Amino acid sequence: MAGCGRGHETIWKAGGMETKPHVVVVGGGLSGLTAAHRLIETGSRVTVLESAPRPGGKLHSSPVAGVPVDSGAESILTRRPEALELVADLGLGDRLTHPAPAPARLYSRGALRDFPSGHLMGVPGGLTALARSGVLSWTGTLRAARDLVWPATTIHADVPVATYIGVRMGSEVVDRLVEPMLGGVYAGRADRLSLEAALPQIVPAARTRRSLMAAVREIKEEQAAKARDAAPGPVFATLRGGLATLIDALVDRVTAAGGAVETSTPVRELRRDGAGWRIVAGPPGAERAVAADAVVLACPAPEAARLLRVEVPEAARELERIGYASMAVITLAYRARDFAAPPKGSGFLVPALEGRTIKAVTFSSVKWPWLAEALRAAHPDEETVLVRCSIGRVGEEETLQHSDEELAALAVADLADICGIGRPPVEQRVTRWQAGLPQYTVGHEARIARARTAVAAHPGLALCGAAYDGVGIPACVASATEAARTLTTVLTERVAHGAGPALSD
Ligand SMILES: Cc1cc2nc3c(=O)[nH]c(=O)nc-3n(C[C@H](O)[C@H](O)[C@H](O)COP(=O)(O)OP(=O)(O)OC[C@H]3O[C@@H](n4cnc5c(N)ncnc54)[C@H](O)[C@@H]3O)c2cc1C
Repeated sequence: MAGCGRGHETIWKAGGMETKPHVVVVGGGLSGLTAAHRLIETGSRVTVLESAPRPGGKLHSSPVAGVPVDSGAESILTRRPEALELVADLGLGDRLTHPAPAPARLYSRGALRDFPSGHLMGVPGGLTALARSGVLSWTGTLRAARDLVWPATTIHADVPVATYIGVRMGSEVVDRLVEPMLGGVYAGRADRLSLEAALPQIVPAARTRRSLMAAVREIKEEQAAKARDAAPGPVFATLRGGLATLIDALVDRVTAAGGAVETSTPVRELRRDGAGWRIVAGPPGAERAVAADAVVLACPAPEAARLLRVEVPEAARELERIGYASMAVITLAYRARDFAAPPKGSGFLVPALEGRTIKAVTFSSVKWPWLAEALRAAHPDEETVLVRCSIGRVGEEETLQHSDEELAALAVADLADICGIGRPPVEQRVTRWQAGLPQYTVGHEARIARARTAVAAHPGLALCGAAYDGVGIPACVASATEAARTLTTVLTERVAHGAGPALSD
């Protein structure tokens, strides 16, 4: 058998017939499907094995009030290029759309309030704005002001977010401003999340500056200057028809190029087999062995750890330590006339210490004009408002023990109280995300680096997904693209050395 590399393509010649290297991707969420798409582009034959009955993982949508509404991820950060490049690459650029300019607010000390202007992930950048916002008590505001006069707090190693911010600005800033933001992104707690991983912009300032507030102001001014120069447009985007349509487009692209996406096919075992891998996958009673030249593990960290336990135990030990938070998303359709006043802003966050069940609320049809348009078309005679409520932070699993009806009732009661909605919703949907978001706790980056080093000793194996370099969609796309690039390099080198493909499965 002789091999030859052809530009981006990697082709093996077996007995005169050309075969492509076979890569198995474990997990058909956004990361796995992106990796599959990239691997096909560079000449591999790809099989995606997905345990659930549908692909997409945390991206999914279903109809509420007659329109498709995302029940998982709904928006893309546009300040990183990777997700937008994928959207363009899939020919979806004309469906890209942005939120209305209505900032999110905060429910603090019993009222809805604006965030203090100039904050960075909740960390205030100025005392006047903080005092005016009314988010903190007077004693909390005075405590935050100490940051301006106190000597520097030196940090050498990674620490919990709450430790550094708390020392500088006090617990009210942590509890009422920073934790609600972290609750939104990670469903995590400030006393456990890593400063390095969750607030990387702040770390250099924490190492060199005396006042955190002054450092935040400088970072924000730099960001604003960059934004003025680059005129970058809105910070977030989605796709008309729902962000989950990105998954449909990826599956179409992968399968049209000859790739396979097999659902209801959990991967159970991963073993080395010569230069390649042997995978056992399938529902109970219908397992089969699949041979692969290379494998991408694009499943959540606990599953990746389980699959690596025999062949790469060092990596498994690191990945086992990544915990997950479960949550629920309650989508409610209301008649606009049942609101005491039209919703102000795109939604609001609720600090845990307010004692409410809901932690975040999005007025989806206010935030996303495309959704409002779709609702008007579906209900020309009755203005409908869609509201998305998130419930569940790490450590709040008890709340999620309630039935769907009870969870929806709790969300409805909080909303009625906070927003003055006089009547129950006309439709509701409850979506549960068991182990929905990985927790980037203290030491996360070092943990991931050790896992990656262990995996790198096994060429033909790569990790990607939300557990590694960021939970957001651009970070997932980036980690998938990097995994595909790493494997393409390995496969191309193997071909150059005359190796052959995996035996067919
Ligand atoms: C409710 C919610 C809202 C979010 N909102 C946003 C947002 O608005 N913007 C944003 O940027 N990010 C958001 N995120 C984060 C983002 O959606 C996720 O981090 C990202 O989609 C993860 O993609 P993934 O492919 O890495 O993992 P997943 O989507 O978890 O996919 C992994 C897949 O692996 C499969 N799998 C697991 N074990 C096996 C096995 N043994 N064999 C085969 N398959 C297996 C799973 O079934 C799953 O489909 C949100 C997350 C949640 C939960």
